[in-house]
Amino acid sequence: MKKEMICIECPKGCRMEVYYGDGKTVEVNGNMCPRGREYAASEIEDPRRILTSSVLCEGLDLRMLPVRTDKPIPKQALLQAMERIRKIRVKEPVRAGDVIAQDFFGANLIATRSATRENV
Ligand code: SF4
Repeated sequence: MKKEMICIECPKGCRMEVYYGDGKTVEVNGNMCPRGREYAASEIEDPRRILTSSVLCEGLDLRMLPVRTDKPIPKQALLQAMERIRKIRVKEPVRAGDVIAQDFFGANLIATRSATRENV
């Protein structure tokens, strides 16, 4: 089978033709460097994405805390990951970069903003 793909590893954005079968990459054309082949192979064999979302806060100055995974997680786990995110409640102040959930589909879920206690 053949798939057209644009490499997103650098701004050149090489257009590639990727030939694959049985979930394995067979041939890649159009990449100007080896990173393109690696990108194509990961997209065919083990596609991953950084997940960005937000979690509910209780008693903090933010109602929703923006979060993201600190590395890409398997694309096929994204729905399951969103279900887990919906159940998370942040009740203690956090700083941007703090880990909100460990072992999160092979990554950590981290805050991308700080949240403090709500002023009452
Ligand atoms: S194949 Fe190499 S040169 Fe082309 S977009 Fe990817 S990283 Fe950049």
